[in-house]
Amino acid sequence: MEKIKMKVPLVEMDGDEMTRILWRIIREDLIEPYVDLKTEYYDLSLRHRDETRDQVTVDAANATERLGVAVKCATITANRQRQEEYHLSEIWPSPNGTIRAVLDGTAFRAPILLPFLRPAVPGWEKPITVARHAYGDMYKAVELVTDEPGVATLNFKGQSGREQTLTIARTKGSAVFQGQHNTETSIRAFVHSCFQYALDTKQDLWFSAKDTISKEYDGEFRRAFDEEFANTYKDKFDTLGLHYFYTLIDDAVSRVMRSKGGFIWALKNYDGDVMSDMVAAAFGSLAMMTSVLMAPDGSMEFEASHGTVTRHFYRYRAGEKPSTNSTATIFAWTGALRRRGQLDDLPDLVSFAGKLESACLETMKDGLLTGDLAVLVDEGHRCQIVNYEESLRAISKRLAEKMRTVSER
Ligand code: NAP
Ligand code: MG
Repeated sequence: MEKIKMKVPLVEMDGDEMTRILWRIIREDLIEPYVDLKTEYYDLSLRHRDETRDQVTVDAANATERLGVAVKCATITANRQRQEEYHLSEIWPSPNGTIRAVLDGTAFRAPILLPFLRPAVPGWEKPITVARHAYGDMYKAVELVTDEPGVATLNFKGQSGREQTLTIARTKGSAVFQGQHNTETSIRAFVHSCFQYALDTKQDLWFSAKDTISKEYDGEFRRAFDEEFANTYKDKFDTLGLHYFYTLIDDAVSRVMRSKGGFIWALKNYDGDVMSDMVAAAFGSLAMMTSVLMAPDGSMEFEASHGTVTRHFYRYRAGEKPSTNSTATIFAWTGALRRRGQLDDLPDLVSFAGKLESACLETMKDGLLTGDLAVLVDEGHRCQIVNYEESLRAISKRLAEKMRTVSER
């Protein structure tokens, strides 16, 4: 059988620990036998980031802007403990943070559903996609601790020389302060990504914040959504029968719980961080959550939502075969291949992505499950717990059957 040809390379960002082990098997056993894979390879493993003084992460992000599609393996975010473990010259920043800062994107996280996995919220029938604004707020804040009475002010010095000053608080004793910001450009980019993604995936869009309390800051997010909707998206939404609505975050939380799912929930950076973990946990396993970072220029970076599964990796190093679920990592690859196929007009590549996803889902439907899923199945559903290798081998076998029937036709 002739391999599927690609025109433009994918940006491939390799990573760390257990996911790096899965990465190589997915690439070699599930993709390379069928696709003449073209990638621009960047090794984002912690060791190589250290060797390049983190330049490799910046290069990978720039390559994503240039080529438009990337797939990323989970990576270690360095901390003091990792610095000792890997003898790092510095505690390098989170690669995802660096990439987000270059692409200024919005992260969309969606669960992969299986009929026999019951969500913790029984009413949820369809996936809920969390759209997290990926710039600013608490994540780019400065913080201050004081230890005497005094006054804190917020001061802005314009380029023109004009100054604006507000009193934050007069404190009687020790206190803590935090200064947050966001930019109009980033907020608008977030808004456009959300409406665009809603149109692409034909789902309703909700946005929630706390503009009753934060009239200017959260208010600015709300105004941006309302304006762009009225000016650019309302007609397109109407044509597709889709809805956009804003509601306060506390109201949204209770509505989400009572919903059937099937919509995009746009959230500010911190809200998105927290709510996406809640949604992921309620739908089942972190290993079934996909994530895509969409930049305002349309560039996309696909990854799994989970980390490098360190605990499994330590068992792997000790000679065990952990029961690690590769679904979200496989779906990161298929997402990127499908996108490349759509951009470059390669229907065979798009169709291959679909077949690999089906091979993965059907293997699980047959009852071959990793430990994280086995504990979630309905009573009466037959299942066998397999390790990462057995699971990938079964997927590979099923994929081979699918590809054989294609080439015989
Ligand atoms: P994690 O890698 O997501 O794993 C947390 C736990 O969730 C695992 O110990 C495992 O539970 C379960 N789990 C996650 N993915 C799984 C999978 N594919 N199959 C089966 N079980 C899975 O989070 P972490 O342990 O907090 O972080 C590990 C490293 O990843 C850290 O260095 C962190 O910085 C990094 N990280 C990277 C990213 C990213 O690159 N996007 C995101 C998050 C964290 P059991 O052990 O109970 O089986
Ligand atoms: Mg989080």
